[in-house]
Amino acid sequence: MQTQANRSGPVVLYEGARLIAGDGSAPVADSAFLVENGTITKVGKKGELTAPRGAGHINLTGKTVMPTLINAHGHPGFQRGLTYSADNFTRENIIDDLNRALYFGVAAVQSQGIEKGEVMYQIRADQEAGKLGGARLHIAGRGIGAPNAGPGGAAYAGIAYEVTTEDQGRKAVQELAGKKVNLVKIWVDDRNGRAPRLPPDLFRAIIDEGHRHGLQVNAHVFYYTDAVELVNARIDAIVHLVRDKEMDDALVASVVQHNVYVMPNLSPERGTHAELPHWLQDGDPLMKLLQESVSPPVIARMKKRYENRDAAGVERARTQYGILQRSLARLAKANAKITLGCDTGLEDYLFGMSEQHELESMVGAGMTPMQVIVAATSRPAEYMKLDKMGVLAAGKEADFLVLDANPLDDITNTRRISKIYVKGAEINRASLRLSLTKAFTN
Ligand SMILES: [Zn+2]
Repeated sequence: MQTQANRSGPVVLYEGARLIAGDGSAPVADSAFLVENGTITKVGKKGELTAPRGAGHINLTGKTVMPTLINAHGHPGFQRGLTYSADNFTRENIIDDLNRALYFGVAAVQSQGIEKGEVMYQIRADQEAGKLGGARLHIAGRGIGAPNAGPGGAAYAGIAYEVTTEDQGRKAVQELAGKKVNLVKIWVDDRNGRAPRLPPDLFRAIIDEGHRHGLQVNAHVFYYTDAVELVNARIDAIVHLVRDKEMDDALVASVVQHNVYVMPNLSPERGTHAELPHWLQDGDPLMKLLQESVSPPVIARMKKRYENRDAAGVERARTQYGILQRSLARLAKANAKITLGCDTGLEDYLFGMSEQHELESMVGAGMTPMQVIVAATSRPAEYMKLDKMGVLAAGKEADFLVLDANPLDDITNTRRISKIYVKGAEINRASLRLSLTKAFTN
């Protein structure tokens, strides 16, 4: 699937848009930026930038541009249409998820350790060689957990390393380093009392071994006490908020002091609605993107979840979710390194859709739209070492969204996508759309 058609000339001046750089700096009204061979070479105001002779001009008056989104926590490959299983974990289906992400404006995805076999390594290599489009894939290979305490779900059985000794933990990391994973994933959870969780001496050894190999280690976490220990043990990122209680000032201060990246993962927001949420209603910009790219039976199943909801269940979900919201507000206030990461790819939490939903949930929890844009662009780029992505500035890749409305006014305007550019080339969204709907009706 060729996703980078409509290639503009090698030098193009884009003029007139409101430009949101992605690094938290104030937006530039009436901007101009020059792109040469896929790289941004100048950013300034319209009328102040000159383009070389023969350069193309694109008028973006009335539009807003911002960097493409980056999701640091996803699980590509498991859902295909209405089915969800390890059998779906094929090259074709993983690429379909990466194309789906890109269609919604997400240009890079970190897979978080539920990865079977060699297929993702091949996809990453093909992308690096320029042979394959879609959202850029970063991988963690097989994540590491205590027996039966790794990824929870029948589709994931047997994929993660199960370790009970420091030596096994270190060997797993060495194997992963040999395969050049982008980072190491561990699970520290007892899966609701079903299994003993990875103990601190083991995760300390894994973190140490990761760092010896220059690899960041990130942790799935559930319990407050584990988060405290992980942060003290120099974990690089926690890929969920604590879920048994609120993160207090002491833990938040420790997260900030140790430079730990935090992925809020607000997907439980979906459970807080007694009735069909607005994004699943006709006319909503997220619903429009879904209808363009997902088959009707999948959308019908998403909607069905909201029929005859039990009031007590909704109440419980809201109480639980309130814990996450308050923790996130506290982290944002303390300037913690909040990073978009939302468990994309769980059943009916589709690529593209879930990232867009997460941005709205982050604002709902008390972050400003500007903080959320930083968390979805420059921050994950920094964490994932995507040095050329995540910011619209000279020297960076021209990876950007052209939006019909300003996301600083309303974060859901990130869904009003007019065009997507990757390395200066406009993505052919019509052909992406065709391939996506085909994949989901098969
Ligand atoms: Zn996950």
